[in-house]
Amino acid sequence: MTFRVLITDNVHEECASFLRARGCHVDVKPSLTKEELLKAVKEYDAIIVRGKTKFTREVLMEANSLKVIGRAGVGLDNIDVEAASQKNIKVVSTPQASTVAVAEATMALMLALMRMIPEANRTLKEGMWLKNKFMGCELRGKTLGIVGFGRIGKAVAKRALSFEMRVIAYDVRDIREEASAMGVEVAESLEDLLKRCDILTLHIPLNKSTRGLIGERQISLMKRGAVIINTSRGGIIDTKSLLKALKEDKLSGAALDVFEHEPPQTDEEWELIKLPNVVVTPHIASQTHEAQRSAGIMIAEEVLKALNDTKITGTR
Ligand code: NAD
Repeated sequence: MTFRVLITDNVHEECASFLRARGCHVDVKPSLTKEELLKAVKEYDAIIVRGKTKFTREVLMEANSLKVIGRAGVGLDNIDVEAASQKNIKVVSTPQASTVAVAEATMALMLALMRMIPEANRTLKEGMWLKNKFMGCELRGKTLGIVGFGRIGKAVAKRALSFEMRVIAYDVRDIREEASAMGVEVAESLEDLLKRCDILTLHIPLNKSTRGLIGERQISLMKRGAVIINTSRGGIIDTKSLLKALKEDKLSGAALDVFEHEPPQTDEEWELIKLPNVVVTPHIASQTHEAQRSAGIMIAEEVLKALNDTKITGTR
């Protein structure tokens, strides 16, 4: 009997090869309109996505054939997990596949910001030799504050320590043992971490309790001239507060891979992006060949396992 699987959002091609080699009927569509998604949840046993396709409650309530949603990557904020569980739809993901890619992107953004590499690159390519304009700062000796000491937070800590940074972490879990094994200090609270770091980096999921976690009050606790790196989710930092802090020189810079709206929509988001002391990338932290291939294969394995578990006996 054949499972029907739809793959969308540009999941790595080895995902489809893996499932086809194991007898699944696989359709691949790089992106879906809402109407196509509403139709698909009535036709397929499983749908595999990255972050673009949104499984809202409205969509999931229409699902009468869907048994499994596979999210190639980490972060389930594009899926209403509660609604999926109400409809008995299993949600699986590959949280470990992109850890190194995001940690390396975080270091890349941190270095780019501290050494003003995007501006130096742009001006030289435009024919200007502005050697004296670009006086950077070293990472060595700076205090890095990590919010969220999970997979990515720890991978960033490991890399930051090799740059001779002092690393302090804060997590809602008890991380004392993991942190001390790595030579990382633990902050007593988020406020404590904010007061002590020169560079703040966020590695937490976006949910009801973390939306807007870094707002005006939190930024006000930070050292004047500190910087923020965000490769987690845009909604965790309040855009207006960040923009204000940068314009008032409370913060000396920010490096952002993620935005409240993607692509950005509001005037504030665009004003923030265009500031010279803000380095930006369009949500590419996990976009490496290695991470996408590994996410594609891992999600195919997970989805097939979940489909077998649900004991569906074939095509509708
Ligand atoms: P993880 O689950 O391993 O770690 C998250 C950690 O955050 C956990 O230890 C958790 O206890 C902690 N946490 C949760 N809420 C917190 C709070 N309010 N304060 C402090 N700590 C809190 O996840 P991960 O694999 O490290 O990924 C972290 C996040 O990175 C993901 O949720 C995702 O949003 C983001 N991400 C972004 C990209 C990208 O392309 N930019 C790619 C992958 C992941």
